[in-house]
Amino acid sequence: MIDIHTHILPGLDDGAANWNDALNMARAAVSEGITTIIATPHHANGTYTNAAVDVAEHTHAINEQLIAAGVPVTIRTGQEIRVHDGLLDAWYRRELLTLADSSYVLIEMPSSRIPKTMIELIHEFNVLNLKPIIAHPERNAEVTQHPERLAELIDAGAYAQMTTHSLLGGFGKRIEQHAWSLMKSGHIHIVSSDAHHVERRGFRMGEAYSFIERRMGEQWVNYFKSNAEAVIHDSPFHNQPPLASASEGAVRRFLSYFYKK
Ligand code: FE
Repeated sequence: MIDIHTHILPGLDDGAANWNDALNMARAAVSEGITTIIATPHHANGTYTNAAVDVAEHTHAINEQLIAAGVPVTIRTGQEIRVHDGLLDAWYRRELLTLADSSYVLIEMPSSRIPKTMIELIHEFNVLNLKPIIAHPERNAEVTQHPERLAELIDAGAYAQMTTHSLLGGFGKRIEQHAWSLMKSGHIHIVSSDAHHVERRGFRMGEAYSFIERRMGEQWVNYFKSNAEAVIHDSPFHNQPPLASASEGAVRRFLSYFYKK
């Protein structure tokens, strides 16, 4: 399994605080069957600045330490880039990183709203042959109220990443319900942990995928997993499986009640 959004690099943001935290996270990831983790420390979010060179340096160091500690997981470089006015200038200044050297870029909107410049920014990314992935739209207040506005961003050329904890109720019932509704309406392209800490916010990837299998079917699990692979290989995302009609969804829920996996 591949996890494209994590805060595993120690001491850079509100994720792993030190080497011990990072090592515990890496071991937990291995025990879930995760083989590659993209480190995406917060960048330009008003609190944390982690420019490309720093992330690359820390990623190199953590991989050396993981090899020395015998933990079989590879960390790749990335950032969770807050949408801000000077974002494209920062790209030209080479301060930004794509995910694992691919053409995919993880961007984060403020939690309260969709910035007015989003559509324009997505177009600019596309012109640069970059594919923006919007981090956890299920946690954005404007998307919650107007999911069609997320659909507009997707139509403009963006993708959307769902966080495992949202699906599993870690951010409360409201976000959980909203998260599943975005999933079932086909607005989500990739699932990842946004892991910050092994206990407070771990990976829970296996758990989330088994819920997705139960509620949406195995082909959706395969779709999300293969898209995570596509990021690493810098290949296009796969075609979405057909969306279940309301009645099919009801049958699946009915059956899963009796055949809990
Ligand atoms: Fe994050």
